[in-house]
Amino acid sequence: MGRYIDPVCRKCRRESIKLYLKGEKCFSAKCILEKKNYMPGMGRGSKLSPRTRKPSDYGTQLRAKQKVRHLYGVLEKQFRKYFKEAARQKGITGDLLISLLESRLDNVVFRMGFAQSRRAARQMVRHGHIRVNDRNVNIPSFNVNPGETITVKKPDLDIVKKAVETAKKRQTYDWLDVDLEKRVGKLISIPTKDAMEIDVQEQLIVELYSR
Ligand code: SF4
Repeated sequence: MGRYIDPVCRKCRRESIKLYLKGEKCFSAKCILEKKNYMPGMGRGSKLSPRTRKPSDYGTQLRAKQKVRHLYGVLEKQFRKYFKEAARQKGITGDLLISLLESRLDNVVFRMGFAQSRRAARQMVRHGHIRVNDRNVNIPSFNVNPGETITVKKPDLDIVKKAVETAKKRQTYDWLDVDLEKRVGKLISIPTKDAMEIDVQEQLIVELYSR
Protein backbone atom coordinates (compact mmCIF):
# COMPACT_ATOMS: atom_id res chain seq x y z
CA MET A 1 0.00 0.00 0.00
CA GLY A 2 1.37 3.42 -0.95
CA ARG A 3 1.81 6.14 1.59
CA TYR A 4 3.05 9.71 1.78
CA ILE A 5 6.53 9.86 3.30
CA ASP A 6 7.59 13.53 2.87
CA PRO A 7 7.31 15.87 5.86
CA VAL A 8 3.62 16.66 6.22
CA CYS A 9 4.15 20.39 6.79
CA ARG A 10 5.24 20.63 3.14
CA LYS A 11 1.64 19.97 2.18
CA CYS A 12 0.52 23.09 4.06
CA ARG A 13 3.32 25.11 2.53
CA ARG A 14 2.37 23.88 -0.94
CA GLU A 15 -1.28 24.81 -0.46
CA SER A 16 -0.49 28.03 1.50
CA ILE A 17 -2.94 27.16 4.24
CA LYS A 18 -2.94 25.35 7.52
CA LEU A 19 -4.24 21.84 6.99
CA TYR A 20 -3.91 20.94 10.70
CA LEU A 21 -2.06 17.69 10.12
CA LYS A 22 0.06 17.69 13.28
CA GLY A 23 -2.32 18.19 16.15
CA GLU A 24 -1.34 20.68 18.87
CA LYS A 25 1.69 21.97 16.97
CA CYS A 26 -0.60 23.42 14.31
CA PHE A 27 -2.13 25.78 16.89
CA SER A 28 1.20 26.95 18.28
CA ALA A 29 3.94 29.31 17.16
CA LYS A 30 5.93 26.20 16.18
CA CYS A 31 3.79 25.81 13.05
CA ILE A 32 6.19 26.20 10.15
CA LEU A 33 3.71 28.38 8.23
CA GLU A 34 4.27 31.07 10.85
CA LYS A 35 7.89 31.33 9.67
CA LYS A 36 8.08 29.92 6.14
CA ASN A 37 4.91 30.88 4.38
CA TYR A 38 6.28 30.25 0.92
CA MET A 39 6.35 27.15 -1.22
CA PRO A 40 8.89 24.38 -0.64
CA GLY A 41 11.93 24.85 -2.86
CA MET A 42 11.05 28.50 -3.62
CA GLY A 43 12.48 31.53 -1.92
CA ARG A 44 10.18 34.07 -0.34
CA GLY A 45 8.50 36.05 -3.18
CA SER A 46 10.23 34.02 -5.91
CA LYS A 47 9.08 34.93 -9.42
CA LEU A 48 9.05 31.20 -10.22
CA SER A 49 6.49 30.55 -7.53
CA PRO A 50 3.05 29.58 -8.89
CA ARG A 51 1.61 31.89 -6.24
CA THR A 52 2.87 34.92 -8.18
CA ARG A 53 1.10 33.81 -11.38
CA LYS A 54 -2.60 33.71 -12.11
CA PRO A 55 -3.61 30.05 -11.99
CA SER A 56 -5.47 28.44 -14.87
CA ASP A 57 -8.93 26.94 -14.30
CA TYR A 58 -7.34 23.52 -14.23
CA GLY A 59 -4.74 24.73 -11.70
CA THR A 60 -7.46 26.12 -9.42
CA GLN A 61 -9.46 22.90 -9.60
CA LEU A 62 -6.38 20.79 -8.99
CA ARG A 63 -5.39 22.80 -5.91
CA ALA A 64 -8.93 22.53 -4.49
CA LYS A 65 -8.77 18.76 -4.87
CA GLN A 66 -5.26 18.49 -3.43
CA LYS A 67 -6.22 20.51 -0.33
CA VAL A 68 -9.06 18.13 0.47
CA ARG A 69 -6.99 15.05 -0.36
CA HIS A 70 -4.16 16.16 1.91
CA LEU A 71 -6.54 17.19 4.67
CA TYR A 72 -7.94 13.67 4.91
CA GLY A 73 -4.61 11.98 4.11
CA VAL A 74 -6.00 10.04 1.18
CA LEU A 75 -3.96 8.93 -1.82
CA GLU A 76 -5.06 9.87 -5.35
CA LYS A 77 -6.37 6.44 -6.33
CA GLN A 78 -8.48 6.17 -3.20
CA PHE A 79 -9.69 9.76 -3.53
CA ARG A 80 -10.89 9.02 -7.06
CA LYS A 81 -12.78 6.01 -5.74
CA TYR A 82 -14.55 8.25 -3.22
CA PHE A 83 -15.45 10.61 -6.02
CA LYS A 84 -16.86 7.78 -8.17
CA GLU A 85 -18.90 6.56 -5.23
CA ALA A 86 -20.22 10.09 -4.56
CA ALA A 87 -21.10 10.54 -8.25
CA ARG A 88 -22.98 7.21 -8.23
CA GLN A 89 -25.19 8.22 -5.29
CA LYS A 90 -28.25 10.46 -5.52
CA GLY A 91 -27.65 14.02 -4.38
CA ILE A 92 -25.05 16.76 -4.73
CA THR A 93 -21.78 15.04 -5.63
CA GLY A 94 -19.54 17.56 -3.84
CA ASP A 95 -21.47 17.27 -0.56
CA LEU A 96 -21.60 13.47 -0.82
CA LEU A 97 -17.84 13.36 -1.42
CA ILE A 98 -17.16 15.31 1.79
CA SER A 99 -19.63 13.14 3.74
CA LEU A 100 -17.85 9.99 2.58
CA LEU A 101 -14.48 11.38 3.63
CA GLU A 102 -15.85 12.55 6.98
CA SER A 103 -17.29 9.06 7.60
CA ARG A 104 -13.87 7.38 7.46
CA LEU A 105 -13.05 5.73 10.75
CA ASP A 106 -9.76 7.64 11.21
CA ASN A 107 -11.58 10.94 10.69
CA VAL A 108 -14.41 10.01 13.08
CA VAL A 109 -11.91 9.01 15.80
CA PHE A 110 -10.19 12.39 15.31
CA ARG A 111 -13.46 14.34 15.33
CA MET A 112 -14.53 12.57 18.51
CA GLY A 113 -11.38 13.88 20.18
CA PHE A 114 -9.63 10.56 20.83
CA ALA A 115 -6.64 11.58 18.68
CA GLN A 116 -4.95 14.93 18.11
CA SER A 117 -4.81 14.61 14.35
CA ARG A 118 -6.09 12.33 11.61
CA ARG A 119 -2.61 10.88 11.28
CA ALA A 120 -2.56 9.94 14.96
CA ALA A 121 -6.08 8.52 14.62
CA ARG A 122 -5.00 6.44 11.62
CA GLN A 123 -2.13 5.00 13.62
CA MET A 124 -4.42 4.16 16.53
CA VAL A 125 -6.79 2.35 14.20
CA ARG A 126 -3.96 0.45 12.48
CA HIS A 127 -2.52 -0.58 15.84
CA GLY A 128 -5.85 -2.09 16.87
CA HIS A 129 -6.84 0.44 19.55
CA ILE A 130 -10.31 1.09 18.16
CA ARG A 131 -13.50 -0.94 18.27
CA VAL A 132 -16.63 -0.30 16.22
CA ASN A 133 -19.80 -1.77 17.73
CA ASP A 134 -17.63 -4.01 19.95
CA ARG A 135 -15.73 -5.38 16.97
CA ASN A 136 -12.02 -4.75 16.43
CA VAL A 137 -11.50 -2.69 13.29
CA ASN A 138 -7.99 -1.85 12.06
CA ILE A 139 -8.87 -0.31 8.69
CA PRO A 140 -8.58 3.51 8.75
CA SER A 141 -10.81 3.89 5.68
CA PHE A 142 -13.62 1.83 7.29
CA ASN A 143 -16.90 3.63 6.61
CA VAL A 144 -18.71 4.49 9.85
CA ASN A 145 -22.51 4.49 9.57
CA PRO A 146 -24.98 6.45 11.70
CA GLY A 147 -25.83 4.47 14.84
CA GLU A 148 -22.39 2.86 15.12
CA THR A 149 -20.42 3.21 18.33
CA ILE A 150 -16.67 3.80 18.53
CA THR A 151 -14.73 2.74 21.62
CA VAL A 152 -11.08 3.23 22.51
CA LYS A 153 -9.78 -0.13 23.75
CA LYS A 154 -7.12 1.26 26.09
CA PRO A 155 -8.58 4.47 27.57
CA ASP A 156 -5.45 5.22 29.61
CA LEU A 157 -3.01 5.46 26.72
CA ASP A 158 -0.97 8.67 27.05
CA ILE A 159 -1.79 9.83 23.52
CA VAL A 160 -5.50 9.37 24.20
CA LYS A 161 -5.35 11.24 27.53
CA LYS A 162 -3.54 14.14 25.86
CA ALA A 163 -5.98 14.22 22.95
CA VAL A 164 -8.99 14.18 25.27
CA GLU A 165 -7.63 17.11 27.29
CA THR A 166 -7.24 19.07 24.05
CA ALA A 167 -10.67 18.01 22.79
CA LYS A 168 -12.37 19.39 25.90
CA LYS A 169 -11.38 22.88 24.75
CA ARG A 170 -12.36 22.33 21.11
CA GLN A 171 -15.43 22.43 18.94
CA THR A 172 -18.07 19.69 19.19
CA TYR A 173 -20.20 18.42 16.32
CA ASP A 174 -23.93 17.85 16.42
CA TRP A 175 -23.62 14.65 14.35
CA LEU A 176 -21.58 13.05 17.11
CA ASP A 177 -22.51 11.99 20.62
CA VAL A 178 -19.27 11.65 22.58
CA ASP A 179 -18.42 10.77 26.16
CA LEU A 180 -14.79 11.84 26.38
CA GLU A 181 -14.31 10.44 29.90
CA LYS A 182 -15.54 6.98 28.94
CA ARG A 183 -13.77 7.19 25.55
CA VAL A 184 -16.95 6.22 23.75
CA GLY A 185 -18.74 7.98 20.93
CA LYS A 186 -21.59 7.41 18.54
CA LEU A 187 -22.16 8.71 15.04
CA ILE A 188 -25.69 10.11 15.11
CA SER A 189 -26.11 11.21 11.53
CA ILE A 190 -24.20 11.55 8.28
CA PRO A 191 -21.44 14.17 8.70
CA THR A 192 -21.62 17.37 6.70
CA LYS A 193 -18.99 19.72 5.35
CA ASP A 194 -19.65 22.18 8.20
CA ALA A 195 -17.04 20.32 10.22
CA MET A 196 -14.21 21.05 7.79
CA GLU A 197 -11.49 23.28 9.14
CA ILE A 198 -10.71 24.79 5.74
CA ASP A 199 -12.87 26.57 3.23
CA VAL A 200 -13.32 24.23 0.30
CA GLN A 201 -15.10 24.69 -2.99
CA GLU A 202 -16.01 21.07 -3.61
CA GLN A 203 -17.67 22.08 -6.90
CA LEU A 204 -14.15 22.66 -8.29
CA ILE A 205 -13.29 19.03 -7.51
CA VAL A 206 -16.41 17.89 -9.36
CA GLU A 207 -15.40 20.03 -12.33
CA LEU A 208 -11.87 18.61 -12.28
CA TYR A 209 -13.00 15.01 -12.39
CA SER A 210 -15.68 15.79 -14.97
CA ARG A 211 -13.15 17.00 -17.54
FE1 SF4 B 1 2.65 21.69 10.01
FE2 SF4 B 1 0.28 21.80 11.26
FE3 SF4 B 1 1.47 24.03 10.58
FE4 SF4 B 1 0.46 22.43 8.71
S1 SF4 B 1 -0.69 23.54 10.23
S2 SF4 B 1 2.44 23.49 8.66
S3 SF4 B 1 0.86 20.43 9.59
S4 SF4 B 1 2.25 22.52 12.03
